[in-house]
Amino acid sequence: MNTSKQNSGEHSSPRSDKHIKLFIPGPSEVRAEILDAQANWMIGHRMPECADLVGSILPKLSQVFYTKQTVLITASSGTGLWEAAARNCIAKKALTCDNGAFASRFSDVVGLNGKEMEVLSVPWGQPVLPEQVIERLATGEFDAVTLVHNETSTGVTSPIKEIAQAIRALPNGQDIMILVDSVSGLAGARIEMDAWDLDVVLASSQKAFALPPGLAFCAVSDRAMAKARTVPARGYYFDFISLAKSIAKNQTPATPAVSLLYALDRQLDDIMAEGLDNRFARHLAMRDRTLEWLRGKGFEIFAAAGYESPTVSCAANNLDIDISALNKYLRGHGMIISNGYGDLKGKTFRIAHMGDTQMNEMEELFTAMDGFFA
Ligand SMILES: *Cc1c(COP(=O)(O)O)cnc(C)c1O
Repeated sequence: MNTSKQNSGEHSSPRSDKHIKLFIPGPSEVRAEILDAQANWMIGHRMPECADLVGSILPKLSQVFYTKQTVLITASSGTGLWEAAARNCIAKKALTCDNGAFASRFSDVVGLNGKEMEVLSVPWGQPVLPEQVIERLATGEFDAVTLVHNETSTGVTSPIKEIAQAIRALPNGQDIMILVDSVSGLAGARIEMDAWDLDVVLASSQKAFALPPGLAFCAVSDRAMAKARTVPARGYYFDFISLAKSIAKNQTPATPAVSLLYALDRQLDDIMAEGLDNRFARHLAMRDRTLEWLRGKGFEIFAAAGYESPTVSCAANNLDIDISALNKYLRGHGMIISNGYGDLKGKTFRIAHMGDTQMNEMEELFTAMDGFFA
């Protein structure tokens, strides 16, 4: 939709000149055009203009999820939708798959919301595999599985399509809610809600969407919506039934983050113009180049071979470099990468190649890093 600015043009840019280009896995670098899109005039969330804005967003957002089912938008970060998935979709017991820091926290959130659960622990750096999930589900006592598509702490992508296929083939496979965190995957790494038969796919605005933080999105299957109606104590803010009722009218129950919706609408236009297939291919090419650069320097890759993430690469610090010193050096060149996450700090470091980052920008980063190692 047209979000043309009507202001007088008298204001100079409010942005400081302290730009540090982000090669960290969230928040990711946001283009100036997207930052500017937020500056449109405020509108009331019950004004037709806001419904038009949401109406412009939804068909495009649905394409990113590859879904014809319900898509919801919340004013929260992705963490909020972990609570949503847990509270709306788990009645009996969840199998929570833990292969990294975010998967582990998703698992914690399930328990903190009072749900019965068991953890499937997989060594960090490894993907979750279908046979591991199926083996644990065999008891028949589970009605949900939580999974992280793209584990940002380890740079590992799990084979969600194959896991879902294996779950659906179980005798009670149709009754199991497949709840997938694709916070750092969606819009950068392929995930297809409908074709892969998933129940919830959730994401944040500030990762592969390359938007400012503050919005979260999820796709919810018809199966999950039907289930939610039977689950008590879904809470208020993240109740799928109430969110779905509003979104059917291009609204949200509470006040949405209007400025971020402007940015989302603009960004989705740009994502559609690039084309999802091209976008995924760009991420894979940047991933391959990053792995090549890391190996060229003598680093091992922390992620299991064949499961390296398209959006973030995690290097093992087998050369025992001072990662803080590297980042300090990079700051001097107006860039920054990430140390390892949590327990992996100092032992790994991460280079994001997600969102709108282009290959030439990756080359600028590698040239700067070459300088550090020279
Ligand atoms: C960043 C991240 C989260 C947390 O998302 P927030 O938007 O910060 O709440 C969850 N899962 C994964 C895989 C992430 O990368």
